[in-house]
Amino acid sequence: MAEARIIDGKAFAAGLRARVAEGVAALKASHGVTPGLAVVLVGEDPASQVYVRSKEKALADLGMNSFDHHMPADLGEAELLALIDRLNADPAVHGILVQLPLPKHIDTQKILARIVPEKDADGFHVVNAGLLATGSPGAIVPCTPLGSLLLLRDTLGNDLKGKRALVLGRSNIVGKPMAQLLLQQDCTVTVAHSRTQDLPGECRRADILVAAVGRPEMVRGDWIKPGAVVIDVGINRVPHPTEPGKTKLVGDVAYDEAVKVAGAITPVPGGVGPMTIACLMLNTLAAACRAAGAPVPA
Ligand code: NDP
Repeated sequence: MAEARIIDGKAFAAGLRARVAEGVAALKASHGVTPGLAVVLVGEDPASQVYVRSKEKALADLGMNSFDHHMPADLGEAELLALIDRLNADPAVHGILVQLPLPKHIDTQKILARIVPEKDADGFHVVNAGLLATGSPGAIVPCTPLGSLLLLRDTLGNDLKGKRALVLGRSNIVGKPMAQLLLQQDCTVTVAHSRTQDLPGECRRADILVAAVGRPEMVRGDWIKPGAVVIDVGINRVPHPTEPGKTKLVGDVAYDEAVKVAGAITPVPGGVGPMTIACLMLNTLAAACRAAGAPVPA
């Protein structure tokens, strides 16, 4: 059997970013509005610092405003809530992103709930989750599942109807919204998790397999239905197999095995990862368009 088509998330994300940059320029020209995202980072978690820097760079590259709030690790919950209130009220801020995880002394749900849903660029607010689950217009969709769906639609020519989809993982930020998006596309959706029985068997029935489990290379080649489209959301840092002392990134799917069975597959890195930031930019532009009363880009 031929090897799977490699889904180039990096190239797709570059195209999406270019379209967002055009949308930003058009909104500036038509309404005099520059989309702006407030990026809130509390503490000095190294991975979070890397993520935040790449988001701030993407905003600058696309001509958007980035309002950076890098706060000390001992910031009190009340002070963070007060900052969110100020950002909610600031008309130059169209989106608010609070980088997770927050320090343990802060109640994450309380903070996310304080962001007004229209500025919830990550789509984590319960109102946006509810809009998505009910198929209502105006939902801000979490960036990673949205990016995964865009890749799937591109790969399958927009025709997901009737396909059997298995989402491995049920987190609020990836698994559940991914399942909702696939349902909206008329897929027959199964959501698997740590209590699922016969996980390999469930996976083997799927035309579309989305792995968001956070376990390095857990999904083996013989779990995959021949010809299936595999979206690997996982980002896991593991010891490098041949270079002692170094690490490498792997997904939740054993890529070398899967590529021999699947019809198409996202690599790690270079698959879903670049789509997440591109979709954050898209969500921010869409929020700015809605605030300005301009048409929202499709
Ligand atoms: P969570 O840890 O929140 O959720 C993991 C899910 O996997 C849970 O539903 C859990 O089940 C399930 N699970 C864990 N172990 C098993 C197992 N042995 N068998 C079956 N199911 C299992 O992770 P996230 O959703 O936040 O992230 C998932 C992955 O995606 C991670 O690798 C993360 O790094 C990556 N990620 C990548 C992003 C990107 O930009 N590409 C963005 C966000 C995440 P249960 O609910 O029963 O505990």
